[in-house]
Amino acid sequence: MTRLQVTGARSRRTPVTGPGLLVCTPLRLEARAVRRGLRHPGPGAAQVVVTGYGPRRSGARETMLRDQPFAALAIAGVGGGLAADLRPGDLVVASEVSDGHTVIPCASAALLAGELRRAGLRVRVGRVLTVDHLVRGPERERLAATGALVADMESAVLARAADGRPLAVVRAVSDTPDRPLVSPGALGGGLAALRSLRAAGPALARWAAAVGERQVLLAGPRSFCAGVERAIEIVERALDQKGPPVYVRKQIVHNSHVVAGLEERGAIFVDELSEVPDGASVVFSAHGVSPSVRDEADRRGLTTVDATCPLVAKVHAEARRFASDGYLVALIGHEGHEEVEGTLGEAPDSVALVQTAADVGALQPPDPGKVAYLMQTTLAADEAADIAEALRERFPAARAPGSDDICYATTNRQRAARAVAAEADLLLVAGSANSSNSVRLVETAQRAGTTAYLIDGPSDIELSWLAGVSTIGLTAGASAPPAVVQDIVTALRGLGTVEVSERVITTENIRFSLPKEVRQS
Ligand code: SF4
Repeated sequence: MTRLQVTGARSRRTPVTGPGLLVCTPLRLEARAVRRGLRHPGPGAAQVVVTGYGPRRSGARETMLRDQPFAALAIAGVGGGLAADLRPGDLVVASEVSDGHTVIPCASAALLAGELRRAGLRVRVGRVLTVDHLVRGPERERLAATGALVADMESAVLARAADGRPLAVVRAVSDTPDRPLVSPGALGGGLAALRSLRAAGPALARWAAAVGERQVLLAGPRSFCAGVERAIEIVERALDQKGPPVYVRKQIVHNSHVVAGLEERGAIFVDELSEVPDGASVVFSAHGVSPSVRDEADRRGLTTVDATCPLVAKVHAEARRFASDGYLVALIGHEGHEEVEGTLGEAPDSVALVQTAADVGALQPPDPGKVAYLMQTTLAADEAADIAEALRERFPAARAPGSDDICYATTNRQRAARAVAAEADLLLVAGSANSSNSVRLVETAQRAGTTAYLIDGPSDIELSWLAGVSTIGLTAGASAPPAVVQDIVTALRGLGTVEVSERVITTENIRFSLPKEVRQS
């Protein structure tokens, strides 16, 4: 099959004349639904044209439309569901459209799909297949086996009119394998599809408003740190050596993509050891565990592999050392974070959590001359420094950690994020919501005065964030895979030409050795 690269190849951010968004709909009914959804389409905003039913009429219109000065092309209509789990009214946003010979990618599909989902619609992203006849009977199953989600008779033909401009294809499912075109449910399916098309209108308008040329500034370093790479490799090796399932206590690192990828390979993530069957193998996550968890695993006779990051283990060792020397240890960190729970568990009677400078006043050390402080490894350096300052003010003899507890990866990513945020209109941080270091990157940029958002992937980007934004800073927390950053850039390219450059404040070449249990590959 030939792949046509049509999106982002030419830039028409502002059309000379004509609409910003041109919407092609094969049928009048579809055009009416989309127009109502767009609310006030008109010259300069959006134009909805009826292009006619089937590939022959579409071909004739495509030739005429190709040279029109629109900024972005959307193709919207109903379609026949191929995948067995689709329901009438579901929307399929094309990641690509194909006529079986040529494939045209729709790079911004994830952005539009996310917007539609936030509007409460059921949305799938995948291939839209254009055929020259209505699909009936067992042919649906055959076409579904090619990976296509929905079939229509126009999209792959009309899509050529985009000719390098941003392209979106949305098909609302009218009929499905269970409710074919000639069936008692056919009318209801058609109405459900038209309702969904109408509901998709505002998201299409926001998609078109986000179209534009952009600069993306990548922060360096970003994404995986040495501790995260080590933890993932430990689970992968355990799976290779022992075979699935391998149990992992808590998320190995705080990232949904990493967890989903390892689950696919046979890892089972549990919250507590009580969920691990007797005799099974269990990996402790990169955030560390308290001694009571290790004791429980020993009592149960579980085979354990410890993926605790060596830099977290260093903080644990410091907590034990200060506690055994009779110090009250003020642990600067966030309540409930697994790393903090692990460190508190090292010396529960001697470690007190301090989350803010105000918490310092509540500390009641038995001996004010014997106070020490430690930090969670993934804190914002500036905030933690303020709390440490408050501790030193109240307890001038307070002992600091031997070396910085906030790890090199956290510090470097915060400095790099600040550097790109200073040049950008907006900073996007790839990372999951429970990732402490990713959240801190957002806060760091916001404190520096730049709008910043945490996103797990491109579908979390709200299109309204992008309207009028020409320079985007992009970074990723230490637990976010590099592939997510690439997915975000690809999706932005679906909105127009993107020039990518990198701001590298330092390079990292740290590697941690693997535990002996998994060292033999
Ligand atoms: S962020 Fe720092 S402490 Fe956490 S796993 Fe990475 S290197 Fe280790």
